[in-house]
Amino acid sequence: MFDGFREECGVVAIHGHPEAANLAYLSLHALQHRGQESAGIATSDGREIRCHKAMGLVADIFTPEVVGRLPGHMAIGHTRYSTAGDTVLGNAQPFYVMCNKGPIAVAHNGNITNASEVRRELEQDGSIFQASSDTEVILHLIAHSRERNIAGALREALLQLDGAFSLVLLARDRIIVARDPYGFRPMSMGLMELSGGKMCYCFASETCAFDLIGAVYMNEVEPGEMVIVGPEGMVRQRYTVPKPRAHCVFEHVYFSRPDSIVFGKSVQLSRELMGRLLALEHPVDADIVVPVPDSGVPAALGYADESGIPFRQALIRNHYVGRTFIEPSQAIRDFGVRLKLNPVRELLAGKRVVLVDDSIVRGTTSRKIVRMVRGAGAKEVHLRISCPPTVSPCYYGVDTPRKRELIAANNSVEDICRYVEADSLGYLSLSALRKAVDDDEKQEHCYACYTGNYPTELVNIDELSEPKLRRI
Ligand code: AMP
Repeated sequence: MFDGFREECGVVAIHGHPEAANLAYLSLHALQHRGQESAGIATSDGREIRCHKAMGLVADIFTPEVVGRLPGHMAIGHTRYSTAGDTVLGNAQPFYVMCNKGPIAVAHNGNITNASEVRRELEQDGSIFQASSDTEVILHLIAHSRERNIAGALREALLQLDGAFSLVLLARDRIIVARDPYGFRPMSMGLMELSGGKMCYCFASETCAFDLIGAVYMNEVEPGEMVIVGPEGMVRQRYTVPKPRAHCVFEHVYFSRPDSIVFGKSVQLSRELMGRLLALEHPVDADIVVPVPDSGVPAALGYADESGIPFRQALIRNHYVGRTFIEPSQAIRDFGVRLKLNPVRELLAGKRVVLVDDSIVRGTTSRKIVRMVRGAGAKEVHLRISCPPTVSPCYYGVDTPRKRELIAANNSVEDICRYVEADSLGYLSLSALRKAVDDDEKQEHCYACYTGNYPTELVNIDELSEPKLRRI
C-alpha cells in the first residue's frame, strides 16, 4: 500500500564551501532528533553528483571515509524517521536520479497530501516508481515538465502539489530550496563568510544546525518561495502566491530543539511561556515541579518560575537507548519506559508532585510515568500538559496516530486523568498556546491536531479517511 505519509525529517543544504559534505554531515548531526531511521547526503563538484544514504544514525553512517567520498562545494542532506511499514532503504533520502534535466537529487521534510493522487496519474502515464516516498513523485513531476531549466521544472512540479514540504534540490551546478505556500514545516537560511570574502549559503530545518557549523542565521525561506544558489549568485523568488500561513505549532510544543529559532521565534522561550501560562491556568498546591525529560523541561521551568514551586529533576533519562534492545525473558513491569527513565526516590518520596510533559498522544507513556513517580513514593501526582488535548491526526508531517488511537479524541479530560492514574490533569488552553507562540493576533500557525480544522483541502486521503475532512 502506498504509505508516503507520516514522515518526520530534517533537511539541510550547503552551497559554496570546499567541505560541503562535512558541513552537511555536521548539520544533520544537529538535526538527528528529527529522524533516526536513515540519513543521506548528496554532493556536487559542478560536474558530477554523488550520493550516499543508509539506515541508521548520522554519526554511524558518515564515517570519515564515507564523507571523503563525497567531494564538492554543494551538498544536500536528509535525516528521516517514519513509522513501521515503510522502514526501508529505498525510502531513504535524498533521491538521486539521472533524468532529462540532468542529474538531480531531492530531499524534503513534510507530507504531500495529494501524493497518492499525483502518483496514480503519473503511473497511468507510464511512470515507474521504486519507493513509497512522496519525494519520488516530485522527481517524476520535474522530469515530466516541459520547462527547460531546473528551476522552471521544479516550479511547475511544486504547483501541482498540496500539503507540507520544505525541500532541498541539488543539480549539477546549483541548489534550490523551496517551501510550500503555507509554510507548514520550518526552513531557515544562514550565511558563513569564508576567507577572501566568499559567501557560503546554508539552509536547515532548524537553526541549531547553523550554531554547530558556525553559520549565522539570517531569516526564513518564505512560504511559497524558492531560493536558487548557483554560478550567478543567490536569487530569491516567489514561485506562487503565499497562502495564509500555517506554521506547525507542534514544532514549538515538542518537535524542534529548544536551542533553535523556529518560525523566527526561540523554541526555549515559547516552551517556558507555555509552562508559565499552564501554571496560571492550572495551579495546584504541591511541593515540587518535575519535568518529563527532555521535552517537558522548558515548560516545567516556566511552571516552577510562575508558581514559585521548586523545580526538581526527579526523573533521569538514559540518552543511550537505541531502537533495538534485548527484552528480558521474564516480563518486567513498564520495561519500555524504564529503559528510558528512572525516578530519583530521594526527591519524590512523600512529595506532592506536579509532573510536566509536553503532550499526551495515546496516553500509555503518561500512565507508566505517573505510576513510576507514585511507585517512587510520591504522595500526589498532578499531571500538567503544555498543549491542548491532541484530538486529530496530522497530515502535514508529524507522526500522530489515527483518531481512534488518540486518547483525547475519544475521552474527556476527566476520563484521561482516571486512565493515566493522576490525581489531577490540566492541559494548556488553545488561547494560551497561541499566546506562547506569539500568534494571538497574527494567526500564522496550524493547530489542526488540537482543533480538527485543517488549513488545506484534503482529498483522497482515503486510506486515513478519518476524521471527516473539510476546508476552513
Ligand atoms: P503517549 O501518550 O503514550 O502516546 O506518549 C506521549 C509522549 O510521546 C509524550 O511524552 C511526548 O513527548 C511524546 N510524543 C508526542 N508526540 C510525539 C511524536 N510525534 N513523536 C514522538 N514522540 C512524541
